[in-house]
Amino acid sequence: MTENLNIGELLRRQRQFFATGQTREVDFRLAQLRRLKQAIADFEEPITEAVRADLRRPELEGTFELSCLAEINYALKHLKRWVKPKRVSGSLAQFPASSKVYPEPLGVALIIGPWNYPFQLVISPLVGAIAAGNCAILKPSELAPHTSKVVADLIGKTFDRHYIAVVEGGVEVSQKLLAERFDRIFFTGGKRIGKIVMEAAAKHLTPVTLELGGKSPCIVDADIQLEYTAKRIIWGKCINAGQTCIAPDYLLVDRAIKPDLIDAMKATIESFFGSQPQTSPDYARIINNHHFARLAELLKDGNIVVGGETDESDRYIAPTLIDGISWESPVMEDEIFGPILPVLEYDDLGDAIAQINARPKPLALYFFSRDKNKQKRILAETSSGGLGLNETVLHVGSPTLPFGGVGESGMGSYHGKASFDTFSHYKSVLKQTFLFDIPLRYAPYKGKVDLMKSAIKK
Ligand code: NAD
Repeated sequence: MTENLNIGELLRRQRQFFATGQTREVDFRLAQLRRLKQAIADFEEPITEAVRADLRRPELEGTFELSCLAEINYALKHLKRWVKPKRVSGSLAQFPASSKVYPEPLGVALIIGPWNYPFQLVISPLVGAIAAGNCAILKPSELAPHTSKVVADLIGKTFDRHYIAVVEGGVEVSQKLLAERFDRIFFTGGKRIGKIVMEAAAKHLTPVTLELGGKSPCIVDADIQLEYTAKRIIWGKCINAGQTCIAPDYLLVDRAIKPDLIDAMKATIESFFGSQPQTSPDYARIINNHHFARLAELLKDGNIVVGGETDESDRYIAPTLIDGISWESPVMEDEIFGPILPVLEYDDLGDAIAQINARPKPLALYFFSRDKNKQKRILAETSSGGLGLNETVLHVGSPTLPFGGVGESGMGSYHGKASFDTFSHYKSVLKQTFLFDIPLRYAPYKGKVDLMKSAIKK
């Protein structure tokens, strides 16, 4: 159901709902999480169908949208512990007061989502917003219209809109929402729009979580299990036809293993999708003509060693490996966000690290090697939102691993406890006694300076 109310009025009603205090009750939050879980189960087919209609996503990859269920289960299991105030030790200067930290809900959250995983990237943050006791407005991406509608239907049928509401629409609607004052804005999308969101949030001093993208490098050392490496890279690159924020964007391969790796990846593509991936039921399509044209343009770069075929009428781009690429090539300028994998090489791991460190910090970095010392080097000498050692993409699927970017790939994180933290304020509370009063801090100060210094330095 599209939200027909005026946005300012909707927000006012949500604030009224929040002010009733209902969302602060842990039992209320647990009940809403259970309702959401049941609604997702009830809508499983429409969700899969909508994602198929928007992205021609294979059925198995459609199930990725349901990974928000793991987030709900995790929150249901741990919420009672998360909401408890934590007693912390105080300093001598505060004696005999007690100190505690109380998590409290922020108020009304705005969640803006992208089109590539259009269901789970608005619902997973919502799990955190509900768990932390907030009201929320969701704005799914207009570029995945079927899924946007399913999100609106599901939420409309499950929650009072003065508690959780969906507002459908494009840039104009997004900008209307952003003109309002929220208590947190949780945005998933590209860097360019991330800046617009942060600028709008600054007007109200609203805290923002920005889950952005960028070029996630994949470094491949010579000391690897070749077949598994090829499979894990091609899988990470080809799910959702490369339209995954943490897909390996490009490869940086030890020159000694490059020909073998290219052969192994070629064999992997054929084993996954056959010799004609266009006819494979297991390969998705590009979201729209604009992105198709953008990606087709990138195929003009370097030497195509595998793939390269396109079909505009079907928005199909074959899984493609490109060799003969330099750091200055157009394909190395922006996040590719499609099934095109440039293969660059290196002779010295230090040079590969230096190249990565000369660029914005990536959302994910992948390193394949058996060598533990080299793994330690990558861990210590590079910075990225997440790091996959001998694996791609999987780290996003765990509620126990906070997920988010660093530097230009984003700010803040979520999943599991991190989602609860993102939508909470941690209020520090000091409680003093009336039983007695230590006069050390009060004027006149004469004769108290040394005592004060030693109390502070303790
Ligand atoms: P996008 O930034 O174009 O759009 C995201 C949302 O912003 C949409 O809901 C859209 O309606 C809204 N929007 C667009 N223009 C706007 C404007 N001018 N003002 C206000 N709102 C506006 O992103 P996208 O194309 O939907 O998604 C792709 C990007 O998202 C990629 O960069 C990808 O890496 C990133 N991404 C990141 C994650 C993550 O978890 N870090 C996950 C998925 C996608």
